[in-house]
Parts: sequence; structure tokens; C-alpha cells
Amino acid sequence: MQINNKNKCIFLDRDGVLNKDIGYLKSPDQLIILPGVIEALKKLKEAGFLLIIVTNQSGIAKGFFYEDDLKKVHNALLTIFKKNNIYIDDIFYCPHHKDGTVEPYNISCDCRKPNTKMIKDGAIKYNIDLSKSYLVGDKDTDIQLAINAGLKSFCVENDMYEYNETIVPDYKVNNLSEAAEIIINLDK
Ligand SMILES: [Mg+2]
Ligand SMILES: [Zn+2]
Repeated sequence: MQINNKNKCIFLDRDGVLNKDIGYLKSPDQLIILPGVIEALKKLKEAGFLLIIVTNQSGIAKGFFYEDDLKKVHNALLTIFKKNNIYIDDIFYCPHHKDGTVEPYNISCDCRKPNTKMIKDGAIKYNIDLSKSYLVGDKDTDIQLAINAGLKSFCVENDMYEYNETIVPDYKVNNLSEAAEIIINLDK
């Protein structure tokens, strides 16, 4: 038997999965945690998964908010989770956009989803076995990222987006709770 002591991880999109997607969220007072998220994260953590947020934040490249604003939002998000005894292992974000106006962020990069740099960096930093890990997102770019990185994927479908039928998630769910239930059953 081969011994595999690598970690398993849930890679989480932020907007539309953890908090309500209001579009270019830029301040902590705009954070609305979605129903069932706290309980779902607790269950996933108890099942031994690392929790890593991966989020595209091109609002920085586009000049809608500063990287400092994003850090405040993320600190507030982590504080809310900590108050509920949930420890998020890391947050990776991409501040870039090729059509942005703000230097040095207005570039084509390897980290903007569906590019895989955030996942690859996370996998190295935390010794993660991607074949035992999952991504939960709410857009085609999240699902394409999962496909590109070799992760099983959950799409939290909502009516804000049009979905491309050729980008197929492993599972379609209504919220993170449903994804967590399925993950925990698969992981048994
Ligand atoms: Mg999203
Ligand atoms: Zn980037």
C-alpha cells in the first residue's frame, strides 16, 4: 500500500459561495454571509479538509477599490468565521485584469481564474493532494479552473449568471451546505 499523507482541501470561491455577490464588494459592511455557510464550513473542517479561498478581484486593476480595501474585507470575513470557531487556512486573490487601468495590476496573469496559479501555489504551500480535493464556485470560470487544475467541482447555481453548457461541473448544487453534504458522503 502506498502511503499518502498529503492534505485534502476545499478551494472556495468567495462571492456567491460564502457571501452574497453584490459585484465589486469593497468594504466590510457589505459582507453578507450566505445561509448555511457557517455550518457547512464547520462540517468540512471537522471532516479534515483545509479551507482555502480563491477569488478574482479585478476591481483592483479596474480602480474600483484598493488592495488595502480588499485586505480589510478579508480580515472582516476571517473575523466573522473565527467568531464561529472556523479557521480559514488561506486566501489567495488575483488583483489583475488585462483591461485594467491601474498599474501594476493591468496585466494578463497566470492567477486570474480559470488560470491555475492560485491552486498550484496553494497545493505546494500546504502539501495538497488535488485528486482528493474539491472546488466550490458559482461561475463557469470557477468550474473551468477546477477542470484545468484536476479538481472535482461543485457549481452553486444562481440566476445572476448565464452558464455555458459546455463547461460541466461534477455537481450542481443550490448552496455550500448541499456541496458539503455530498463531499462528506464521498469522503467516507
Ligand atoms: Mg463567485
Ligand atoms: Zn492575477
